[in-house]
Amino acid sequence: MSAALAFPTSAPPIRSEGIYLNSATAGLPTAAVLDAMVGHLWREAEIGPAEAAAEQAERLHAAYRAAARLLGAAEDEIALLESGNRALQAAIGAVPLAPGDRVLVTRAEWGGSLAMLSGLRGVSVEPLPTQPDGTLDLAAARAMPNGRVRLVLATWCPAANGLVNPAAEIGALAREAGAFFILDACQAVGQMPVDVRALACDALVASGRKWLRGPRGTAILYASRRFLGQTATPMPDQFGAAWDGRGWTPRPDARRFETGEASFAGRLGLGAAIEGALAFGPERLQARIAQLAALMRDGLRALPGVQVHDAGSALSGIVSFTLDGMAAGAAQEALRQAGVSLAARGAAYAPLDMAARGLAEVLRAAPHVFNSGAEIAAALDAVARLATRR
Ligand SMILES: *Cc1c(COP(=O)(O)O)cnc(C)c1O
Repeated sequence: MSAALAFPTSAPPIRSEGIYLNSATAGLPTAAVLDAMVGHLWREAEIGPAEAAAEQAERLHAAYRAAARLLGAAEDEIALLESGNRALQAAIGAVPLAPGDRVLVTRAEWGGSLAMLSGLRGVSVEPLPTQPDGTLDLAAARAMPNGRVRLVLATWCPAANGLVNPAAEIGALAREAGAFFILDACQAVGQMPVDVRALACDALVASGRKWLRGPRGTAILYASRRFLGQTATPMPDQFGAAWDGRGWTPRPDARRFETGEASFAGRLGLGAAIEGALAFGPERLQARIAQLAALMRDGLRALPGVQVHDAGSALSGIVSFTLDGMAAGAAQEALRQAGVSLAARGAAYAPLDMAARGLAEVLRAAPHVFNSGAEIAAALDAVARLATRR
């Protein structure tokens, strides 16, 4: 292993077998995350869920504080929800979109968001222009007419492409158009530093289970005070809105997007995961993940029968590739049997981007800080064996 890779690997996972390169699907939680969750589940059973929540009030509160610190937000701008898609539904659903309004999206936009927008009648969804290599074409984007652009929705790091979109620049574009800016950071938070003030986003969404290594069924929604002041929650519950004896008033804070019921164990686990990411340091996370991803990407590029499909000039910890003449699902299964975990992703994850790259599906490798250079080398060997077996 080169000296450059002698990086201290803290916060090891509990994993006992195989090479796990699937953190873009779900990162492996640390013992601290499991302890926070399991401990709380035991307390719920011992004294009752409401009683356990009261006992853990300070730690539950700390999860919001940690999320705010991670994103550079204020605590009242944080909601904890059940998934990235739920958080996107909440944020997009809060924007008052009327027939005739336009929504600009990135070419690499998340399929789930495109599905959500498809349910809004009369709203025109338009991709921002890209350069031939897949990078956003900012000059062409600025030249687009911006009449009736109500919302700019951007996927920072797409799910099946190593591309990193210029989130802050897209935010500036949205501001010039007088539009709301919602940033899908589901594949960004936990693998790079995030500062919502610098991004100037109205709302930002992060999955808990991916790069943050939190529990399944958790997500962070950041909603700026400006966004909260200018939008309404379409359907709050009795937690999201207050009853004064005559009518309902939405909560002033971002928690108006939550419902009264939630997995409190999940929130505590997410809090522990965020504290782990903060302790490791977002800059160190980014440096280490980029180093491992580059090792994987360069290694794959050197293999015959393997095509790397990451587009653009700035790249994330996601490595997308295909094997000549082999379906992604079959390759994923063969690699799993060889002890290597990664994902196979079809066009639905990012339909516009997959079509533009001429792809129906890709394999996706996503190393995290708990991986080693030796594991990347062994995974590359497994891919090479599979590619030459054909
Ligand atoms: C995973 C993902 C989502 C949705 O997050 P869930 O927590 O799975 O609902 C949204 N956008 C992108 C880019 C993703 O990769």
